[in-house]
Amino acid sequence: MRHKTILEYLQGRDDQGLFAAARQAREDTFGRDVYLRGIVEFSNFCCKKCLYCGLRAPNTRTQRYRLPPERVVEAACLAPELELGTVVLQSGDDYTYSTDTIRAMVEEIKRRCDVAVTLSLGDRPLEELARFRQSGADRYLIKLETCDPDLYGRMRPGETLERRLELLEHLRGLGFEIGSGIIVGLPGMSLEMLASDILRLAELDLDMIAVGPFVPHPRTPLADAPPGCLEQSLRAAALLRLLCPGSNIPATSALNARPGMPVASDASAPEDGRALGLRAGCNVIMPSLTPEDVRGAYEIYPGKNAFTASARQSVERVRELIRQEGLLPSPALGFARKSVYSETTFQAFAPDVCGSASLT
Ligand code: SF4
Repeated sequence: MRHKTILEYLQGRDDQGLFAAARQAREDTFGRDVYLRGIVEFSNFCCKKCLYCGLRAPNTRTQRYRLPPERVVEAACLAPELELGTVVLQSGDDYTYSTDTIRAMVEEIKRRCDVAVTLSLGDRPLEELARFRQSGADRYLIKLETCDPDLYGRMRPGETLERRLELLEHLRGLGFEIGSGIIVGLPGMSLEMLASDILRLAELDLDMIAVGPFVPHPRTPLADAPPGCLEQSLRAAALLRLLCPGSNIPATSALNARPGMPVASDASAPEDGRALGLRAGCNVIMPSLTPEDVRGAYEIYPGKNAFTASARQSVERVRELIRQEGLLPSPALGFARKSVYSETTFQAFAPDVCGSASLT
C-alpha cells in the first residue's frame, strides 16, 4: 500500500500539499535552521567507471587534479570563519592519498577547527575506515545511486549493491553518522523503481539522504540519455522528509544543473534549484570550499561548480538564499535527529491511502 501511495505522489498527486507537509515536518524537527556544510573536493581522480559520472577513469578529456594535504586543510579551515559547522572532504576513488595522509588531514582540521568532519572518499578497506573514525571523522557518505541490484550493476561496472550495503553497515558499526542517496531518472530507472528506492532508503535509517536528478555528462556513455526530472527529484526529497523527518536532507547542487532539463512547471520558480529543494523540505546546503583554480574541474556532471566565485562569495550567496526562504543559516555541527518517529509523520500526511494499521 505504501509503495502505491509514494508512486502517486511521485506522479504529482498533490505537490502543494506534499511540499507543505514536508516543510512542516522539517520545521517540527529542525525549526528554521538550515545547516551549511563546506565541501572540499580535493581530487578528481577516480579508478572507477560509473557510466553516469564525468570523473570516471576512462574519461581522458577531464583535466585531473590532486590537492596537496596542506591545501586541503587550508581550504577546510575556512569553515569556522564562514560559520560553517561541517567540512566535507570529498574525492573520487583515489587511493593515492594513503590512510595516514587522510588521517593527518582530519586530525589537523579537528585540532584547528570546531567542526564536524564528513568523509566522502568512496570504497576503502574496512580497516582504513576504522582508522579514519579513530582520527576523529564524524560522518561518511557513500552513495547507492539506485537500490535496484541490476541497475546498480549496469551503472557501476564491476560493483555490486550488496557490497555497497555491507559497507554502509560497517560504517554504521564504526560509529559514523552515515549518509547515502540516489540519482533520480538514471537511465533504466522506472518510477516504480524510484518509489521502491525511497522506501529502501527510509528502511536504511540513514543520517543523511541526498537526492538529485540525473544530469547527462557529454563525455560518458550516457551522454545522449534523457536527463532526470527536477520535479520528481523534489517530490522524492519531500517524501523522504516525511518518511525520515530527523535525517539531514540536502538541497543538492544537482537541483541547480537545469539547462536542458525538464523544469518545474511553476513559472515563478527561482533560478537557484536549491531554493526549490528548501521548499520541498530539505534542511542542508553544501557550498563549495574547493579552491577556485580547480573547482570547475570537479565535474561529476556538467554545470556542477559552475559558480566560479570565491568560497566566501559562494557561502554568502547560499546564506542569502536561505534567508529569502524565511529560514536561518545555522553554524551548528548539524547532526541528524533520528529520534523523531517517521511512520507517524508519513501516516499523518496520507492517512486516507495508508490506513492506520499497516503501511507495508
Ligand atoms: Fe568515481 Fe564516484 Fe564518479 Fe563512480 S561516481 S566514477 S566512484 S567519482
